[in-house]
Amino acid sequence: MNELEQMDREFVLHSYARNYTNFVRGEGARLFDEEGREYIDFASGIGVCSVGHAHPELSRAICDQAKRLIHVSNLQVIEPQVHLAERIVELSGYDMRCFFGNSGAEANEAALKIARKYGETQFEKKRFKVITLKHSFHGRTITTVKATGQEEMHKPDFSPYPAGFAYVESIDAIYEAIDDETVAVMIELVQGEGGVEPFDKGEVQDLAAFLRSRDLLLIVDEVQTGVYRTGEFLASQLYGIEPDVVTLAKGLGGGVPIGVAMTRLKEIFQPGDHGSTFGGNYLSTRAGLTVLEILEEERRQGALEERIEAFSTYLDRMVSANPELFSGAVGLGLMRGLRCADAKVQKRILEATFRRGLIVLKAGRNTVRFLPPLTISKEEMDEGFKRFEEALAAL
Ligand SMILES: *Cc1c(COP(=O)(O)O)cnc(C)c1O
Repeated sequence: MNELEQMDREFVLHSYARNYTNFVRGEGARLFDEEGREYIDFASGIGVCSVGHAHPELSRAICDQAKRLIHVSNLQVIEPQVHLAERIVELSGYDMRCFFGNSGAEANEAALKIARKYGETQFEKKRFKVITLKHSFHGRTITTVKATGQEEMHKPDFSPYPAGFAYVESIDAIYEAIDDETVAVMIELVQGEGGVEPFDKGEVQDLAAFLRSRDLLLIVDEVQTGVYRTGEFLASQLYGIEPDVVTLAKGLGGGVPIGVAMTRLKEIFQPGDHGSTFGGNYLSTRAGLTVLEILEEERRQGALEERIEAFSTYLDRMVSANPELFSGAVGLGLMRGLRCADAKVQKRILEATFRRGLIVLKAGRNTVRFLPPLTISKEEMDEGFKRFEEALAAL
C-alpha cells in the first residue's frame, strides 16, 4: 500500500470501493498516472468530462473567470448564470426557466420540490406521490435515494425515508400505479446506472401525452443523458416529448460541479421556496457556457454524429466477434453499453481493460458501459478499441 492509499484509508470515509491508481494529468480522452502510464478514458469520470480532459478553451475560460470573480451568492444577479439559463432554454426549445444547484441529486431534489408544490397548489385534494421505475437511479441524498427505485438502495441503516414514492417495473405499469395522490412520474429516458436501457419512443410519447391530459407532471432525469450525450442536446428532444421538468448535471460543467432543474412551471417558486449557496455561481456557469459553446459547434459540424457512428460500428464489431461474451450493444449516442453473458464476464472485462490502459464502467448487473468524452478523436477511439480487443483476447 503506498502512502497516498494509506492516507486515503486513514482520513477519507470509506463510502467507495476505490481503485488507487493516481491520475495526475489528462489530455483529451487520455489520462496519465503518476508513473506516466497512459490510459484511454471511455468513462469521462462517469459522463462528466464531456469535452475531455484539459480542453484548452474550457481551461482558459475557468482560469479567466477564477482571476476575476468566482462567487458572490444568489442574492445578486450572476451574469453567466443568466446567459447559461438562456442558452439551456434556447437549446432545449422548451418554454422553461432554470434553477441552478451543484449536482444531479440537487437538481432532482429541486424537481421533486417543484412537483410537491404543484401537487399542493394545483389540485383540490393535495397530491404528492411520485412514481419512478424499479431500475432507476436518481441520486444519493435521503430523498433522491428513496426516489431511486432499486430496493437494495433503501438500506434500513438510513431510514426513515421521506414518504411519497411508488415504484413500477416498466413504463406500461405506470398507468395502473397512478392514484388520487399521484402528482408526477420521474424517469430517465436511457437508464444509466440501471444498465444503459433506452425506453421505447412510442411508449414514452404515449406516457407524456397521458400525463399531460391528466395535468400530472413528467419529470425527465437527464443528469446522465443530457448535454448531447445521446446526440441531441436533450434525450427528451430525441424522444419528441415536452416534459414538465428536466434535470441536468453530469456533462454540463465539464467537471466543474453544476446541476439544473428546468421547468415549464415558470411561476412555481416564490422567493424563499428553494435555494442553494453555491448553485450557479460564476465559475460553474462560465464553465457550463463554455462546454455548451464547444459542444454546439461539434454538433453543428456533424463531428458528434460521426463519432457516434464510429463508436457504434466498433461496438457492433465487438458483439459479432465475441458472441459468447456479449448478447448485444445497447444505448444511444455516446451513452453505450455491451450486454455481457453474465456478471462474471462483466467483472473480468473491467479488470482486463484497466490492466491494458482502458477505462470503462459497469452498469446494472451485466453491462459494460461506455461514456467517452463527446469530443473523442478518431485516433483515441481506435486506440481504445484496440486495447479493448486485446483485453478480450486475454480473458
Ligand atoms: C449520476 C446521476 C444522478 C446523481 O447525480 P449526482 O451528481 O451524483 O448527485 C442522478 N440521476 C442520474 C440519472 C444520474 O446518472
